[in-house]
Amino acid sequence: MPDMSIQNELLSFSNQELTDLVTRLGHPGFRARQVAEAIFRQRRDSLVGVSNLPLALKSQIAEEGLSVGFPRIHQKFTSTDGTVRYLMGFADGESVETVWMPEGDFGEAGDGTEAGQEELAQLASDEKRTHTGKKTRSRATICVSSQVGCAVNCQFCLTALLGVKRNLTPGEIVGQVLAVLRDHDVNLQRERMNIVFMGMGEPFLNYENFMKAVRLLVEEVGFPESRMTVSTSGIVPRIGDFGKEPVRPKLAISLNAPNDAIRERIMPITRKWNVQMLLDAARQFPLRPRELLTFEYVLLDGVNDAPEHAREVARRAAGIQCKVNLIAFNPGPGVNYAMPAHSRVREFQSILVGAGLPTFIRRPRGRDIYAACGQLKRTVS
Ligand code: SAH
Ligand code: SF4
Repeated sequence: MPDMSIQNELLSFSNQELTDLVTRLGHPGFRARQVAEAIFRQRRDSLVGVSNLPLALKSQIAEEGLSVGFPRIHQKFTSTDGTVRYLMGFADGESVETVWMPEGDFGEAGDGTEAGQEELAQLASDEKRTHTGKKTRSRATICVSSQVGCAVNCQFCLTALLGVKRNLTPGEIVGQVLAVLRDHDVNLQRERMNIVFMGMGEPFLNYENFMKAVRLLVEEVGFPESRMTVSTSGIVPRIGDFGKEPVRPKLAISLNAPNDAIRERIMPITRKWNVQMLLDAARQFPLRPRELLTFEYVLLDGVNDAPEHAREVARRAAGIQCKVNLIAFNPGPGVNYAMPAHSRVREFQSILVGAGLPTFIRRPRGRDIYAACGQLKRTVS
């Protein structure tokens, strides 16, 4: 797979790298802070209008072939529920999708962090009052892509149909967040934002770039690590590496099946790392105080949604500090599964809850615009 080892966008530069750049160009180190402030905090897509930077530095940076590297928003689709799906384009013509979900989808409910508490509170209040449809801006979740397409080939996922084109650079991952924050004019000091790395691609197959993007989001953009969650289809060795990171998002693992027989059929990657290896990695994962690991479980009608499957999951996950997010299958063209009845989803949930596993049902967001889990495939019309 072609990899972009030379990164031409300033959004991929750490503060140290920016400092090296400006000093190599003959300018004092403090200019690096100003460049970082302009691109990561003020969300400028060009240095041209940044008045506190000397013209000479700006033209030298341009002569180096470097640009800020903001993605272009090619298209925007807005759902009746307020969710927005963006088609974001990069310099080489490739594109990915990024999703803005006002009030989130309850994916973080009860995960042991403040973001999880907020979702629990909202779940409780939603159950009390009928939904007004009123848009609030107090809280939102941004769903970010990590690769152009995906190589993992899960049979229920639309992104899989694209195959993988290439990895995103750190700046392309950070750029998606900044472009969405800018489009919604978000003030990070006042509004509570969450990031989920659950868009197109397998983040742990683009591990270095993904982790660098995380560090840039924490150090330069100012996102707390406790407000980010990464989901992996189960790249077991990377789960081990991820546990050793000093700064890291929360971890979600797409389990999706109780055993190898079912998981191999829907997630061929199971032949490389089976359910037992995945559960062992989860069991050994070092969690922070109060943190819970999340298992994602897509319910496919008649495939993995039977009561006995729930009991098997509960048995095998016993003793792991975890919660479960159930996602009813989101349909799309080219994918031959069906959504289970809501009663079946509820039954699955109550079996897990009865076995002592906190279990939540993710609410689908933006299904009408193909923005829900597994639906990202650059659907233009
Ligand atoms: N590649 C990573 C992250 C992106 S997918 C991963 O697979 O974990 C985010 C979640 O959407 C995963 O839990 C995946 O299992 C789920 N998903 C994929 N296709 C889906 C579909 N059609 N309906 C519902 N969920 C789906
Ligand atoms: Fe890739 Fe995740 Fe889709 Fe599987 S579910 S194909 S890992 S994006």
